[in-house]
Order: sequence, then C-alpha cells, then structure tokens
Amino acid sequence: MAVQWLLVCHGLATLLVVVSFLCGQWPIFQGTFIERIHYFITFGAYDYFLRFVGVVFGSKGTNVILSVENFCCDRPNPILQVVYLAIIGATYYFIVQSTFSYIPGYYISGVHRYTSLLAVGVGVVLFLLTSFSDPGTVKAENVSKYLSAYPYDNIIYSEKECSTCRIPKPARSKHCSICDRCVARFDHHCGWMNNCIGERNTRFFMAFLLWHFLLCIYGTVAIGLVLAGRLKELKVIHILTVYYGIENSFASLAPHVVQWLLGSYNTQLLLMVFLAIVSLLLAGFFSYHANLCFTNTTTNETFKWEDYIRWQQKLNEAKASTAALKAGISGLNCERKPPESKWKAFFRRSRLEDVEPVSKNNIYDKGFLRNLHEIIFPLSSRHSFSQAKSKSG
Ligand SMILES: [Zn+2]
Ligand SMILES: [Zn+2]
Repeated sequence: MAVQWLLVCHGLATLLVVVSFLCGQWPIFQGTFIERIHYFITFGAYDYFLRFVGVVFGSKGTNVILSVENFCCDRPNPILQVVYLAIIGATYYFIVQSTFSYIPGYYISGVHRYTSLLAVGVGVVLFLLTSFSDPGTVKAENVSKYLSAYPYDNIIYSEKECSTCRIPKPARSKHCSICDRCVARFDHHCGWMNNCIGERNTRFFMAFLLWHFLLCIYGTVAIGLVLAGRLKELKVIHILTVYYGIENSFASLAPHVVQWLLGSYNTQLLLMVFLAIVSLLLAGFFSYHANLCFTNTTTNETFKWEDYIRWQQKLNEAKASTAALKAGISGLNCERKPPESKWKAFFRRSRLEDVEPVSKNNIYDKGFLRNLHEIIFPLSSRHSFSQAKSKSG
C-alpha cells in the first residue's frame, strides 16, 4: 500500500506546486495558501537565498547573483526554451522506454509508434515557429501600416512616441524592455518562447497551446489503452475471479486491479498522472487566451482596462461623494427634516452605491468571426490579399 500513497502524494504535490506557480496570482486564489506558495516560489525563496548569499559572501556574492538574474530575467535568453525541449524530449523518451514494448497491444495498434513521434514533431515545429517568428516588430518602414490599422481609442491608447525607438507608437503596441523593440498588438513577452507574442505570431502561440493540450490527452489515453490491453492480455480479471475467488464486480475487483497496476506499471501510471495534470493546465491557459482572441483583447490590454476601470470608479465615487456632501450642506441650510428612523437609515442604500458602473468600450472588438480572422491572417497577409484582390478586380 505504501507505493499507492507515495503515488497519491506525488500527484497532489506536483499539482499543488504547478497550480501555485502558474495560477497563484489569479483573483480566485487571493488570500489563500496557493497565493502564498506562489509568492514563495516566485519571489520569497529567491529573496531568502539572496539574503543568505549576502550574509555568507558579502556584497560581491549578491552582485554575482544579481547579474545572473539580469541575464536570466531581463535579457533575451534560451534557458526556458532548453527546459521545454528537455521536458518534451524526456517525457517522450520515458514513454518509448516504458510503453512502446507493449505497442501494438490489445486495444492499440502499431501505428501509434509513428503517429506519436509525428505528434511530438508537430509540437516542436509549432514551438520553433512561435519562438523564431517575427511577432510584428514596429519599424520606421512599417509604422504607418500599423498606425492606420489600429486607430487610437483615446481611452487606453492615445497618440504617443516610443522614447527608445523614436518612432510613433501605434495603438495596441508596446515597447518590450527585454527584446528592446516595439511590438504591434503586443500580448506578452513569453519566456518559454524567448520571444514576444504579438500581431504576427499569436496564431502560432495559440496553435502551440492547443496542440500541446491535445498531445497530453493523446499520451494519457494511449498509455491508458496500453494498460487496459495488458489487463486483458494477461487475463488478470480471470485470474483474480477464478484463482483468487474474488467477486466479479467492479467494487471488489477495482482495488486489486489498481494494486496490480501500481506494482507492475508504476512508471506508466506516473507518466499518465503527469500528462493529465499538464493537459488540465494547458486547457485553462488555452481557454484564457482563446477568450482574449474572441474578444480581440490582449493580455497587456486586460491590465490597462483593469487600471482604467479602477481609476474611473474612484473618480465616479469622488464625484458622488462631493454631490452627497453638497446635498448635505444645502439640507442643513433648509428646514430640519424629522430624524430618520435607525432601521430606515440602516437599509437605505449608500449614495456611493449609486455610482455609475464603468464599462469597457473595446473599439477593436469587431465580432467573433472578424476577431478570429485578424488572429489567423495578420496584417501583412491581409494587405497582400486585398492588394491581389484589387489588382485582379
Ligand atoms: Zn519602442
Ligand atoms: Zn519581448
């Protein structure tokens, strides 16, 4: 039974660490231990380490660590790209080592030896496409194209010049401090890709997320089918019911089958748990970004909208409280009203609650289909397409 518990603990710990690391900042985890674990992993542990180095090696040691940090986090570098390749390579290697000897099996055909390699290959190609494609760098030559494609909404974007590139800053663009360039329809700088995600490569990034989600599901199901096949081929149910006299029902057989799997196929089970957890995370990440694509908003813009709405709400509240104060003063000047009952005063809505809600007026949202079209066909291909159309017409 010890192995079972080890496996359960392993699964839970992996899930906790991965969820805390990737999603700890999400509003639903605010004030929970997930947020604290996230803080510890992303900042706290590093802070303690820095202080420890400072105490042991003095300021020279701290400076070395800070320059390493500068190289890793503030400059373009391939560390996470190598980590991605190591993870996908190692996972595929372990699957080949532990599971390929049972393929073809009772429930899985031999073709999966090749389709699995093809599926991993497509994943790596999508990774390379996202990593090494131009995200839509804004240069003096193409700035007018972006300026006309994305008008200023004068809410979150107004006419500006990039102080570093010394060119006009089109709406929706941002100067990436890591890559040191302005990127059109800037979404975010992705450390895993060592590249910005912008106007021209959001499509590859989305394809990458979707493909890796499907890849993990494929791996989980394929290993599941291999194990189910082993169960059938080795006649485990038959042996358990006939030789060990166990009742032929799901409830009485399940614990014995699980124990048999844990004893004989624990590597495959670990791989299944790992792939299932990663597929869940990818599903969450993909749906978040798909929702952004469908509403034609970027990750960068969600922060801008949050700031704008918070600021507008504060402004409206200030206006409402000024109006309430004025009304109070003029009330004092008029005849005194009979005092309001305590109960009435308790249930009466505060004047601040009458503050108008602030709405998000996203002028770039042109409806589901047109938004999707904009992601799949970036500006350059749309322009050449419309030029070709006008030439032929
Ligand atoms: Zn710039
Ligand atoms: Zn960047």
